[in-house]
Amino acid sequence: MQSYDAIIIGTGQAGPSLAGRLAGAGQKVAVVERKLFGGTCVNTGCTPTKTLVASAHAAHLARRAADFGVKLEGAVSVDMRRVKARKDTIAGRSNAGVEKWLKTMANCTVYEGEAHFTSEKEVDVGSERLRAQRIFINVGGRASVPEMPGLDQVSYLTNSSMMEVDFLPPHLLVVGGSYVGLEFAQMYRRFGSEVTVIEMAPRLISREDEDVSAGIAEILAHEGINLRLGAECIRLAKRGEAVVAGVECTDGAPEVVGSHLLLAIGRRPNTDDLGLEAAGVKTDQRGFILVDDELRTNVPGIWALGDCNGKGAFTHTSYNDFEIVAANLLDGDSRKVSDRIPAYALYTDPPLGRAGLTESEIRKIGRPALGARRAMANVSRAVEKGETEGFMKIAVDAESKRILGAAILGTGGDEAIHCVLDVMYAKAPYTVMQRAVHIHPTVSELIPTLLGELKPL
Ligand SMILES: Cc1cc2nc3c(=O)[nH]c(=O)nc-3n(C[C@H](O)[C@H](O)[C@H](O)COP(=O)(O)OP(=O)(O)OC[C@H]3O[C@@H](n4cnc5c(N)ncnc54)[C@H](O)[C@@H]3O)c2cc1C
Repeated sequence: MQSYDAIIIGTGQAGPSLAGRLAGAGQKVAVVERKLFGGTCVNTGCTPTKTLVASAHAAHLARRAADFGVKLEGAVSVDMRRVKARKDTIAGRSNAGVEKWLKTMANCTVYEGEAHFTSEKEVDVGSERLRAQRIFINVGGRASVPEMPGLDQVSYLTNSSMMEVDFLPPHLLVVGGSYVGLEFAQMYRRFGSEVTVIEMAPRLISREDEDVSAGIAEILAHEGINLRLGAECIRLAKRGEAVVAGVECTDGAPEVVGSHLLLAIGRRPNTDDLGLEAAGVKTDQRGFILVDDELRTNVPGIWALGDCNGKGAFTHTSYNDFEIVAANLLDGDSRKVSDRIPAYALYTDPPLGRAGLTESEIRKIGRPALGARRAMANVSRAVEKGETEGFMKIAVDAESKRILGAAILGTGGDEAIHCVLDVMYAKAPYTVMQRAVHIHPTVSELIPTLLGELKPL
């Protein structure tokens, strides 16, 4: 039995930083990782996908070279091996960086293996038993593979196995028209594949407002991505080397034949094989660990951080979980999950930057609100860059004048959204930003203008 002050299970976006703070405070820390140091974001999520998105963007821009007066000889083609090699180099650097950081950290011992609880204070890793007064769970999630007729007859890819693809699939079928699926769909179309997105709901990313879903659908359709929406009964089958997806949609043929299949139907937490029952840690029906506003589970001395607690599904929310726990335990600074404002981006090109409530959420809560919207075609920076697709919109509370939410679907939307987000965190009235003088020409400079055009929602 090895005794520690703290055990951290998983090296995602919260665990390593928490190990750094605890070990730095002189505590004896054990960190357990069963697979890849750095977890999803570094190895199979944000970093590699955004690296691939950058390669896809280069191919897209090269095809559009003539629009900018640039001459290219011959057709544009993509070397998928080099695309993958670039991705591997960049993601590999981060993975190695996390591993080295943890393995050279004073007061920290790294265990490579799968952790299982045996009691409230004990965890087994292989033949070792570790004991600590405090245990922090940062086990993340994985692609959800739900039962689907015929799935057992076909081979399929997930976000993890997509990382090994170094060839161009002739026709990629993407089941799932949400954040993960759409990023892969657009990048593979730009690499040169035929791509069909199959989505059960009547619209893409149905958590967003209808105009956002429609805007994204238009951008993707314009690039030649086939969209099969309202595919209520998806059935899969093998036909020779091909994979056939039966789709009962309102439009189009009843089946789509592709060469490869990517499942992007959501994520599930890695909590099913952790032995949580031995510690008495409670989860909800989908396996997410139940936590309070400071990320404490129902068992004193056990915390859950990151995607596995269902309070966030992003790198920044997992990292913020670390900040909350560290502030409460080490700094005497009371920080809470409920202080967090929802914010995220979809990395299609152009991207979608989002902060706060959607318009439909605002209507649901019934707050009197004002809103404004502007097409990116009316934003100088977008026109100059030749990237005029999309729009930006904002909503404010009619009484308090606080910003309730915003969406920027357009060039630079993932960056420009932060000026809205910061005013929301400052709890300042929108008039503060309306009177701010932003730099010309930027996408952000139109936000004060937009705030001068508010009308009842
Ligand atoms: C394709 C894709 C793209 C994404 N892009 C973005 C993006 O652009 N921006 C963004 O903010 N988010 C993005 N995300 C989400 C983001 O990757 C996650 O929210 C983020 O990684 C937070 O994860 P985490 O800290 O909860 O744990 P993870 O990063 O999932 O890490 C958990 C770690 O725990 C380990 N582990 C699990 N069980 C055990 C066990 N029993 N014993 C020991 N170790 C264990 C795992 O091996 C893993 O290393 C993306 C996700 C995907 C799938």
